[in-house]
Amino acid sequence: MTARAERRAAPKPARIPRATKGPLRVPGDRPPYSADEGRRLAIRADLLDFTADPGWETPGDASPGLRWRPDHWLLIEQGRIAGVQREAPDATWPTEDHRGRLLLPGFIDTHVHMPQLEVIASYGTALLDWLETYTFPAELRYADPQVCAAGASRFLDALLAHGTTSAVVFPTVHKASAEALFAAAEARGMRVIAGKCLMDRHAPPALTDTLQSAERDSVELIERWHGRARLAYAHTVRFAPTSTDAQLALAGRLLAAYPGTYMQTHVAEHRDELRWVAELFPSARSYLDVYDREGLIGARSVLAHGIWLDDADRALLARHGAQIAHSPSSNLFLGSGLMDWRATEAAGTSVSLASDVGGGTSLSMWRTMADAYKVQAMRGERLSAWKALHAATRGAAVALGLEREIGSFDVGCVADLALWQYAAGPVDAVRDAAATSLHERLFALMTLGDERNLLASYVAGRSSYVAA
Ligand SMILES: [Zn+2]
Repeated sequence: MTARAERRAAPKPARIPRATKGPLRVPGDRPPYSADEGRRLAIRADLLDFTADPGWETPGDASPGLRWRPDHWLLIEQGRIAGVQREAPDATWPTEDHRGRLLLPGFIDTHVHMPQLEVIASYGTALLDWLETYTFPAELRYADPQVCAAGASRFLDALLAHGTTSAVVFPTVHKASAEALFAAAEARGMRVIAGKCLMDRHAPPALTDTLQSAERDSVELIERWHGRARLAYAHTVRFAPTSTDAQLALAGRLLAAYPGTYMQTHVAEHRDELRWVAELFPSARSYLDVYDREGLIGARSVLAHGIWLDDADRALLARHGAQIAHSPSSNLFLGSGLMDWRATEAAGTSVSLASDVGGGTSLSMWRTMADAYKVQAMRGERLSAWKALHAATRGAAVALGLEREIGSFDVGCVADLALWQYAAGPVDAVRDAAATSLHERLFALMTLGDERNLLASYVAGRSSYVAA
């Protein structure tokens, strides 16, 4: 049966209820988080963030978009950034003096799988057999709500212990896994975008939903969690092969019916996957077209990988304002391919950075950036520390429509921060001491650094992780 005929034959899904409690809040339109009236904190450190994309030019210490304020004070009031100044604040301010340390906006990981810490660093497979051999068995355990609760807490605490304060996350097909993730994120005050996985075929029976259960669970989760605290719902299509046409169409209708919700999925990761998608959806022009024809590509669509796209695909993404979550560590580990960052961006599509754990081998965004540099080097390009850091902070925030909330030290943003030491061991200490420019220093940190360099994470100005 052709995809079109299959779609015609599919049972008509139930009507999608519209939200009944007035207009849904659109997360990021104005940051909703405002705890602890009057709470203040001033942090002294070297402040580095971005006001714009620094581009691909040869990096300098005064590159466009780079905002470098060494030995400054960041002022935080009510969980938000109130200002930056050179002089110490008056005695009414509680202070933390971290002079000689680096303060960055908390990292934003735009594609990561909550249940896959258990399968990170698993040997010997490419994408499709990796799913079968390692991932699906691990995800089966999330049928148990207790496993979900423990897994969600462990996962978010691990993100914070890597300096990542915001993430776009895949839980599992189980509604309880999304519930647990949202609850754990709310308890930590974190900005998390997630939703239950949609997968109604080509997976173990215990890991599949149905059209009816997918719709019911999604609607219940959206009405309970979307716009609450700092959370947003993402219609989470695992990838085209694990959803029927009817389920893809359902996801498209849900995306249209609930303003401010996101869509996340995988696209064009591995060539074997591409061949399978072409067999399953023979009438689609391309892998991306499978999603586009169901209305799944929009300004809030986050597509992981995007390695094997053509110019028409890239133009389509740009037209809709969708973004590619570049996952270089995963792409190298699974042997998937080398993403063409410059062509993607030249077409007008945003590129953010993602760990894609457990295909990726580290939650550290420093390591992700270092792998991105190596992927681009294989393509004959040079990724500067500025370009990489921008993609992991303000660039991701802009692509998600959240630049007024996260990703920079702009006044009014929520104070999601990470405090780093420039060197954490004997080798990077030698390299750091030898650096003669700011970019050289930060590039060495990007290449050699990881979570061992992290001293503390803050969520909304509150300490959320302190290195032992
Ligand atoms: Zn993934």
